[in-house]
Amino acid sequence: MLSGKIALVTGASRGIGRQTAITLASYGATVIVNYNGSKDKALEVVELIKQKGGNAAVYCCNVAKYDEVETMMKDIVKEYGSLDILVNNAGITKDGLLMKMSEEDYDAVLDINLKGAFNCIKHISRQMLKQKGGRIINLSSVVGVYGNGGQVNYSASKAGIIGITKSVAKELGSRGITVNAVAPGFIVTEMTDAMPEDAKAAVADRIAMKKLGDVNDVAELVAFLASDKAAYITGQVICVDGGMSV
Ligand code: NAP
Repeated sequence: MLSGKIALVTGASRGIGRQTAITLASYGATVIVNYNGSKDKALEVVELIKQKGGNAAVYCCNVAKYDEVETMMKDIVKEYGSLDILVNNAGITKDGLLMKMSEEDYDAVLDINLKGAFNCIKHISRQMLKQKGGRIINLSSVVGVYGNGGQVNYSASKAGIIGITKSVAKELGSRGITVNAVAPGFIVTEMTDAMPEDAKAAVADRIAMKKLGDVNDVAELVAFLASDKAAYITGQVICVDGGMSV
């Protein structure tokens, strides 16, 4: 489904990004596994992909840094000749009630989650325009659609992702580039592991399917949106939340 395609997954050393990298590679894409701090985990992802016969490489870059991202995109295009699929997945949380939230915690989350996506799109858009094609998939969240107490910074970043997605879809659509957002509900990863079991059970109770999601649930949707099968889908926000938001 993706053979011959070059894909970059940001924040692919663990969680949803890790599984997305593995899934894209399983469909034939050559995957660049981006990480910032977790080099060993990123190398493990590449090793796993190679063991299964796929192609992958790691690239260290802090997506919040405009210049670092510019260099990463130039290096990728120089090495591989193109970038067909960009998955803006890197993200962090620094939760707290508004009254207690520091400026640093607000800025840190916005810098990585929102500006990081801007940096990546900005620095690859000229190349995708030249290619007359590309797929950009941005990780939003249901809390970007509905809000969540204690996550003012995170929900602002994820709502911002939806704005970027729709605006860039309008700017680049005529050149065969699609831009979509995937909005997961509650997916089991290290990001959500920190929650106590009773809190997780309470969340599950609010989900129509009465269970938390798996990284595969998100990765398969990303792979579909990255494929030619999704050629006429752009500017959309697709929830993967087991019915949490209905
Ligand atoms: P996770 O397990 O905490 O993984 C986050 C990834 O982002 C790691 O690989 C981390 O790599 C990377 N990262 C963090 N800061 C970075 C930076 N500055 N530059 C590059 N990479 C960076 O998170 P997750 O649960 O898989 O979430 C992945 C995405 O889905 C996020 O955007 C998140 O907001 C979104 N999401 C998750 C859920 C959920 O329930 N899990 C729900 C809705 C949306 P390093 O350690 O190498 O920095």
